[in-house]
Amino acid sequence: MTLTPVDALPARQVRVRAPGKVNLSLRVGPRQPDGFHPLSTVFQAVSVYEEVVASPHDGVLVTVSGPQSAAVPTDDSNLAARAARLLARRAGVTDGVHLHLVKGVPVAGGMAGGSADAAAALVACDALWSTGMSRDELGGLAAALGADVPFLLAGHTAVGAGRGDLLTPALTRGEFHWAFAVRDQGLSTAAVYAAYDERHRAAPPATPSDADDVPLMQALLAGDATALGQALHNDLQQAALDLAPDLAEPLQVARDAGALGVVVSGSGPTVAALGRNRQHALLIAAAFTAAGVADRVLTATGPVPGARVVGE
Ligand code: ATP
Repeated sequence: MTLTPVDALPARQVRVRAPGKVNLSLRVGPRQPDGFHPLSTVFQAVSVYEEVVASPHDGVLVTVSGPQSAAVPTDDSNLAARAARLLARRAGVTDGVHLHLVKGVPVAGGMAGGSADAAAALVACDALWSTGMSRDELGGLAAALGADVPFLLAGHTAVGAGRGDLLTPALTRGEFHWAFAVRDQGLSTAAVYAAYDERHRAAPPATPSDADDVPLMQALLAGDATALGQALHNDLQQAALDLAPDLAEPLQVARDAGALGVVVSGSGPTVAALGRNRQHALLIAAAFTAAGVADRVLTATGPVPGARVVGE
């Protein structure tokens, strides 16, 4: 019998998928002395995915492929690298990891692709290193990495308070069908918040409350896409339009195509339009393309689960 030397075995790989998000509602309070804004938001995870493949390596190495990958840093500032280092520190792991990111979520598009990578990297490294951390413990690490990361770990639909990181799952019925108009040129989240502050210099906004989203929550509970479309809301939309006035075009194209609702996703510039059904979402996506108001179009359904292992 011939024994295979361990060195000749292929390295173990863990493949994790994490979704992007759309904010069904994003309500933003006044800037606090620490620079943050209190939020009340309703997130929905949608079937536009990041994939992170983790394999053993000396140190932490990040590589990236997929659309817009040239715009993603591969140094220590990459959120997936930060997630791996944080988990290693907390779990007392000295192993390294190669994280290969396959970008599906628009970069700097307001759909939290970087945060999805961080959530996926936590799950992937946890499996690769067998740290034995509970999902709650991973959630604590996620919150330390960024306000959107806990939601992308959890997925589905949830209300976010605080900085968006204090999550309460939302009850929903059925599937919702989305079309997204994506731009190659992203918007900086910090710049959009600065434009928001500028708009409210004379009269600061009220502190938001989830009571403002009762109609939206009722629409989700009933699985009523028409009511959901009417309840979509984004306090940052006008600020994003201040920085990128031509975003008015995809918003109008979606309305003309009969979208049940249309909104800038998070801090933009991705525009999210809600269709009546899958066919209608495809039709809205085709209208974005025909009007030349997007560099790329996507269709997706929501809600979907958060970061999870899809292959080892
Ligand atoms: P959010 O909606 O959470 O503000 P976003 O979707 O607008 O985020 P991201 O794609 O998450 O934007 O990334 C914003 C910036 O973060 C990028 O321009 C990039 O410089 C940096 N970044 C760090 N890590 C990553 C990553 N893994 N993927 C993409 N961008 C990353």
